[in-house]
Amino acid sequence: MDRLEKLCAEKGLRMTEQRRVIARVLSGSDDHPDAEELHKRANAVDKNISLATVYRTVKLFEEYGIIESHDFGDGRARYEEVPDEHHDHLIDVKSGKVIEFHNEEIERLQEEVARAHGYRLVDHRLELYAVPIDDKDHD
Ligand SMILES: [Zn+2]
Repeated sequence: MDRLEKLCAEKGLRMTEQRRVIARVLSGSDDHPDAEELHKRANAVDKNISLATVYRTVKLFEEYGIIESHDFGDGRARYEEVPDEHHDHLIDVKSGKVIEFHNEEIERLQEEVARAHGYRLVDHRLELYAVPIDDKDHD
């Protein structure tokens, strides 16, 4: 059993064969696929899995708190397993590439901002939208 399947079992989510395939595909994805990409990958394992099933399943997984969805500015929901350790995302707006990063100083500053407003930070989302630094831009 992979990590996502284990999480589903722990949360008492009944696993069908198709859900299991989709969970495995998600666990095996290092990127942040959208539903259509997930459908493509799940179909390579089981051609009977429909796009509607993928949509229903990711919604369910999200409700159970075992995957996260992100909107990286292109209007498509992207999915990833809820990570063991928190990370933020940097999105290359030219290529759509998504880079995961963790920065202690940013984490600390966010807590400070919340505290300054009289709050204790419980969660946050941070997305950086960027273009690659081109040598031409420096001249
Ligand atoms: Zn991520």
